[in-house]
Amino acid sequence: MSSTKQSVTVIGLGPMGQAMAGAFLDRGYDVTVWNRTASRADALVTRGAVLAPNVKEALAAHELVILSLTDYDAMYAVLEPAEAALTGRTLVNLSSDTPEKARDAARWAAEQGAVQLTGGVTVPPSGIGQAESSTFYSGPRDVFDRHRPALEVITGRTDHRGEDPGLAALMYQIGMVMFWTSMLSYWQAIALADANGLTAADILPHAVETANSLPGFFSFYAERIDAGRHIGDVDRLAMGMASIEHVLHTNADAGVDTTLPAAVVELARRGMDAGHAADSFSSLVELMKKAGA
Ligand code: NDP
Repeated sequence: MSSTKQSVTVIGLGPMGQAMAGAFLDRGYDVTVWNRTASRADALVTRGAVLAPNVKEALAAHELVILSLTDYDAMYAVLEPAEAALTGRTLVNLSSDTPEKARDAARWAAEQGAVQLTGGVTVPPSGIGQAESSTFYSGPRDVFDRHRPALEVITGRTDHRGEDPGLAALMYQIGMVMFWTSMLSYWQAIALADANGLTAADILPHAVETANSLPGFFSFYAERIDAGRHIGDVDRLAMGMASIEHVLHTNADAGVDTTLPAAVVELARRGMDAGHAADSFSSLVELMKKAGA
């Protein structure tokens, strides 16, 4: 077996795994790869990676194993048939899933004599290998520290959130709930623009300016929300309700899909019904803290 230093196995060669294996090759690592669809390893093999003939040999090759699979179910599908080869391995699981699935997998790995570090990569494939890119990690701190040089090949910045294997997945999901809803709001804006003869390019500067204004709102409200203060001194939910309804009606008048603006109206309406008309629209956070409130 190769030394743990400067050697790594990458299992899962979607766009992310390919970029990771490539970054390790660029840094001179001894890289073994395995993927269900073996042809996805072709370009990496040309660059010097070793394609393991099966998962068992991929695991046997190196102590440090990077998993970049669609989700944790895919991980079990790949690793369970080769369970015996997991003993002594460090599994850096960069597949996304829920915090609970990450915790279950860490327990399962321990039962096989392996240790899991959970990761949540915050950049797309183009950000892999870049100094400014960042990944959340959680799990045993000593294991993280030991493998930090290799983890910093994947993204230059690493953020160990704690020992709980669910924490990195949680931080990842916190980013993703914002990412998906924000991107859908952008698609909504483009649909509305299109219905009015404007292209995505036409509205791009306005969309960027609107998105760039959001961090100021985040900072302003974070402090107040943590203090439980939802005073309506700079905005009132009643005003927000009217504005949110204008958004819904503008989209309905344009004949575009209203699923997203209607959901926003529904949340604001619940805030009004709960008596928050004179409070800030940040009071909606209190409703959202309780499922089905
Ligand atoms: P893909 O889903 O494109 O590829 C993941 C890999 O999983 C492929 O190699 C695929 O194998 C393998 N796989 C899936 N199901 C199975 C299975 N049942 N058995 C064996 N292998 C399986 O993902 P990405 O490379 O895009 O991303 C990897 C992870 O990183 C995901 O969890 C994703 O959420 C996360 N992520 C992705 C980002 C992105 O921009 N792409 C950004 C940040 C995180 P095969 O090639 O045979 O299909």
